[in-house]
Amino acid sequence: METCIFCKIARHEIPKDFAYEDKDVMAFADINPIKEVHILIMPKEHIRDFLDIKDLPAGKAGKGLMDKLKNVGQKIIKEQKLEDKGYRIVVNGGGAQIIDHLHLHIIGPLGKSVKM
Ligand code: 5GP
Ligand code: ZN
Repeated sequence: METCIFCKIARHEIPKDFAYEDKDVMAFADINPIKEVHILIMPKEHIRDFLDIKDLPAGKAGKGLMDKLKNVGQKIIKEQKLEDKGYRIVVNGGGAQIIDHLHLHIIGPLGKSVKM
């Protein structure tokens, strides 16, 4: 996608300190964090919404995408030492999202008192 900001980051057109990057998935700090840790994890491929995740042929990001996002999410939660400090994973979709490029928010630390 030509104009999508996250696609531009994926193409390295906008410099970004990546918390994680491989050929399919990337993670970086949210520009407007709502907690001390606020990291976005996403496919490099432009997938518009959670509902658009499909099983694509091997080699494409869609194949096993949720597994990849899970692995990177677990790595980041551990690196950020949020395992026992509380975290929330958020995926906005269906128009609740500002940016139409699928991404997970990892947000923390959060206690039990912080409700949805
Ligand atoms: P959404 O509401 O789409 O789930 O969340 C989009 C998030 O992307 C917001 O939390 C916003 O602060 C973040 N964001 C928007 N533009 C940029 C950017 O250029 N760089 C980074 N790092 N985060 C961005
Ligand atoms: Zn995009």
